[in-house]
Amino acid sequence: MSVEHWMKNLDQNELNCECQRWAFAHGKCVSFVQRCFALNDDSNVIPYPFTICPSPYPRNEYERACRIQSAINRLVYRLAFDIQMMDSVLEKFIDCDPFIKRLRQIYDHIQQLPYQSVAETCIIRTDYMLQELSRCAERTKLRLIEINTIAIGLGAAAKLMREWHKTFLTKIQSDFVSQLPENESHDLVIESLLESWKIYGNPKAMILFVIPEREFNIGDQMLIEQGLLSRCDHSSLLIKHVTLIEISRCCSLNSKGILFFGKFEVALVYYRTAYDPKHFYNEDIWQAYIMLESSCAVKCPSLRYHLAGMKCFQLALTKENFLKEVFKEEREFIDDVTDITEEMFTIEQAMNDAVVQQRILEHPESFYLKQSREGGGNVYCGGMLKERLNEIVEKNDSKRYFLMSRIFPPIRPSLICSNGSITEKQINSELGIFGSLITQNGKLVSERSGGYLLRSKPSSNIEGGIASGQGFIDSIYLV
Ligand code: ADP
Ligand code: MG
Repeated sequence: MSVEHWMKNLDQNELNCECQRWAFAHGKCVSFVQRCFALNDDSNVIPYPFTICPSPYPRNEYERACRIQSAINRLVYRLAFDIQMMDSVLEKFIDCDPFIKRLRQIYDHIQQLPYQSVAETCIIRTDYMLQELSRCAERTKLRLIEINTIAIGLGAAAKLMREWHKTFLTKIQSDFVSQLPENESHDLVIESLLESWKIYGNPKAMILFVIPEREFNIGDQMLIEQGLLSRCDHSSLLIKHVTLIEISRCCSLNSKGILFFGKFEVALVYYRTAYDPKHFYNEDIWQAYIMLESSCAVKCPSLRYHLAGMKCFQLALTKENFLKEVFKEEREFIDDVTDITEEMFTIEQAMNDAVVQQRILEHPESFYLKQSREGGGNVYCGGMLKERLNEIVEKNDSKRYFLMSRIFPPIRPSLICSNGSITEKQINSELGIFGSLITQNGKLVSERSGGYLLRSKPSSNIEGGIASGQGFIDSIYLV
């Protein structure tokens, strides 16, 4: 089913009308957010660009991705709570990556404290692309792109997008509505946060959303905040959005490790920042982060979960022995994970392998170069990759990077609404599946999988972040 087919069923006026209605509602939401936060017009708050129609997705691969989330949850949990296993991978990067090194030192510091977090929470999103195996036969294979464990955005917006596509489809092609899977991404995020807050055990204690200084994604956070307030029996629940620098000025810790924001006790710290060295631009911010991590408040994610999301672990997933160690008790997960991992190479491996070197020289567009730690916007492909690779090798900095074979997902035309105008573009998509974990004293008390995010991007783009303005929110219909 192609967009041309959809288009046949669309009355152009109706389409324009619908899009304007959505854009208007969306624009109103943005201006509401701007007013609430007293932001001026040049703030980063933008309406999300989105696809007019949902995109087709093979049912078997979607179901596989949902099923595998249990294995990914288990992987993140094992890494986070088995420091030896974590170190067996991290130790290679500690000396070459000052950010990982400092986080790992803070981890040691926290372990020495006489008190610990009441609970630790992690919201996970596992991102996949489909590798097209043969253009004619339309056969595809699910490939893991990355596992995110910190500051996962768009869970709330993803559900909204699915609802809007459903409303729209009901009008134009109602027999397709049954092919839209439910999307519980919003519920998973809200319920995991709410459960964490309840576990803390003081209904008067507040929730802190730790946000970047220039936040474009407030719409998604507002939906989460509204969801928390509407599902909470305690109408007095206080939620505050604060930056790390505000935390350095307004938070304190008492001798029992209880965290306060001003005079309010803090139950839960929900990070939507703090994953990139750029977020830690002075020592006050580091000290604020250490204060949060040293406290009894529940963190989402706690530092150990944050570390478990570093990209170097994805490189480790290509090693059979590592998988055997991680899934000692769940052997069935080994095949699940092996089946979705793409070929990856350390730079050292690549430099010592004549075939890989030749491929880099002749087809640099067939690789992605990535950093071993988390943090967006550090991927290179094609000519840029060759340039960057040369710099890295010259600077003797190769340990911090690795190469991943490029996935070539199916491309299809789609209508995109961005800044109020509609254009047709050739796009491809990345599917994210949500999971969550809550642990107390190292024991799992809650584990969930469910809900998805589909982000699409122009097929010519290297990256598709909504934050960087290169991608669109989308949803799926199963085929
Ligand atoms: P981050 O989100 O931390 O910047 P990712 O590994 O998710 O890092 O890469 C960013 C983007 O680059 C992805 O969303 C995807 O669009 C693209 N990408 C990453 N790896 C590959 C790959 N192997 N093949 C094709 N596209 C990729
Ligand atoms: Mg990513």
